[in-house]
Formats: sequence, structure tokens, C-alpha cells
Amino acid sequence: MHQRVKDLVDRGDRFLIATHIDPDGDALGSAFSLCFALNELHKEAWVYLRDSVPYQYEFLPKPRTVLGPTDLTRNGFDAFFILDCGDLRRIGDELQRFRGNCFTVNIDHHDTNEAFGQLNILDDRASSTAEILYGILKALDVPFTREMAVNIYTAVFTDTGSLRYPNTNALAFSICQEMVQRGVVPSEVASGIYENHPKARFDLLCLALATLRTHKNGRLATMHVTKEMFDKTRTSKEHTEGFVEDLKEMRGVEVALFVRQIGPTRFKASMRGKGSVDLAAVARSFGGGGHKNAAGCTVEGPLRQSLKTLIEAIPL
Ligand code: 5GP
Ligand code: MN
Repeated sequence: MHQRVKDLVDRGDRFLIATHIDPDGDALGSAFSLCFALNELHKEAWVYLRDSVPYQYEFLPKPRTVLGPTDLTRNGFDAFFILDCGDLRRIGDELQRFRGNCFTVNIDHHDTNEAFGQLNILDDRASSTAEILYGILKALDVPFTREMAVNIYTAVFTDTGSLRYPNTNALAFSICQEMVQRGVVPSEVASGIYENHPKARFDLLCLALATLRTHKNGRLATMHVTKEMFDKTRTSKEHTEGFVEDLKEMRGVEVALFVRQIGPTRFKASMRGKGSVDLAAVARSFGGGGHKNAAGCTVEGPLRQSLKTLIEAIPL
């Protein structure tokens, strides 16, 4: 499998790297490190981001060749790499239209991956997409620069909830260790991500916490943010990163559900679990996906109804 990627990279010159909308640390870290790696191999590479980089990840070394939706004009790419993305809807409409029938390499660790590539490198036991990519970069024999190391470290670190979640395996630790040997300063990464929130984020958190409820004998905790709350605190979705993880810290909670408004009657749900429920299956029943302990989906309907439907669908 890795040999096929090596052949593809050897033969090609120009590559486009993309990841999912609303990118997280694994999405950005994987995409950026692959771009730097291809440059090290004297290849031209671009990263396509549908959305801007959330402020938590602004410290990441970023390639100079990052494209947005309006930059998708000429398609002279030898292959597309799509990273950390379970299905093609998650790359966004603009790239879906632009991709045409370009050869696509799908590298991912989601349980729900639809194997949409011509080459699919999938491992749902991997802690992160960056963990799979690490193996590929080793096979490509590319040296790990500090820029790559910071991106890979951040990707593994964030997708394992700071090396705490059940997906944290021995390889996740050994990759982090190797990246530290290559120049990553763990405290700098941690403070870039976790100690860099604007005050407005806490204003939003106050409003969100007022909506906190428990259900099913305290085994499910829910919280939500409406458009009105975003407007009042002048915040957006990036300020909600970490809210659902906070909910999960409550004793006795097995599933945390966070919902944010994305349209007049449209809500994005984020779910986190501790192992007792298959949340990927719950998310899939609403057209979403993810992992057993971390999944998401979009629901249609008024807030109360959407929350009720989701709560009922979580088998606790
Ligand atoms: P989050 O709650 O952080 O948005 O997402 C949790 C996990 O579920 C991530 O691995 C993310 O990629 C996945 N996920 C979230 N929303 C969706 C969705 O609408 N569709 C799919 N396929 N996966 C999703
Ligand atoms: Mn991931």
C-alpha cells in the first residue's frame, strides 16, 4: 500500500492535499506536514482549505501554498490526497465539483470511511490520520523537519485528547516522543492550543453552560449554543472547540452531546463518549459519522425537537 503511494509520488510533480471542512488539529497537522514532506521531495504541493485556520491552530507552521475556494481554477494535479475525511461530502461542494475524476488517495482513520478514493489507506485503529501518515512518510524516506514535526505532534496530540482518550496507543506516544526529539516543545504546542482563547470564548461558554442538562440518570449531558448566543458574544464555531470535551469531564457522564446552530432550523451535533455507546452508529443514523467515541452529524428541525431526537437516539 505504502509502495503505491511512493510510486505515485515518484511519478508525479504536482499534488493537491485536502481535508475536511471545519478542520481540527489532525486535519490541519496532517495536511500541512504532508505538504512540507512533498516539498522536501522536490514536489509541488498545495493544501486546499475550505475554511480558515481556527485561532487555536494559528501557531502551526503553515505551507505558503494554501488555497481557498476561490483559488480552485486550474486542475493540473497528478493526484489529490484527501486526509482525515470520512466521506466526500465533508470536503465541501467547491472541491467536490473541482475534483472531477482526478486520482484520489484517501488516507483516514474514521470507522465510517466510505473508501471513496482510487487508493484507500484506512486504519480505524490508528489514533489519528497523522499516525497513518507517519508510516507513509517513513516509507517515502523523507526527513522529518521541525515544521513537519510540530504539525504531526499537534495532530496526534489533539486527536487523542492530549494523549488521554481510549484511542491513545503506544505508537501515538512513540510518534510524539520522536517529534519532541526533532524539535517540538510540548509546552509551546499545549499553550498554543489550550491557553490562547479570547475572552469572548468564555462569554460564550457562560451562556452555553446555562443550557447544561443531564438526562438518563446523569449518563448523558447536553449543552447547546444558538445563533443568538454567537451574535451576542461576537463569536463563531471555532470558539466552541473543546466545549463537548468539557462536558465529558462530569462524573457519571457516559455521553456528552453538544449542539450548535448552523441555520434557522439546522444544528450541528458533536458527541463524545467513554466507550459504552457506539456514537459513530448514532451519527450515521443522521447521515453523519466519526468514531465510536467521537462523532458528529447535522440535524434538521427546531432546537427542542432536534435535541429530543438526538437524545432519544443515544442508547443509554
Ligand atoms: P466533531 O464533533 O469534532 O465535529 O467531530 C467528531 C468526529 O466526527 C470527527 O472525527 C469528525 O471528523 C466526525 N464528524 C463530525 N461531523 C461529521 C459529519 O457530519 N459527517 C461525518 N462523516 N463525520 C463527521
Ligand atoms: Mn482525525
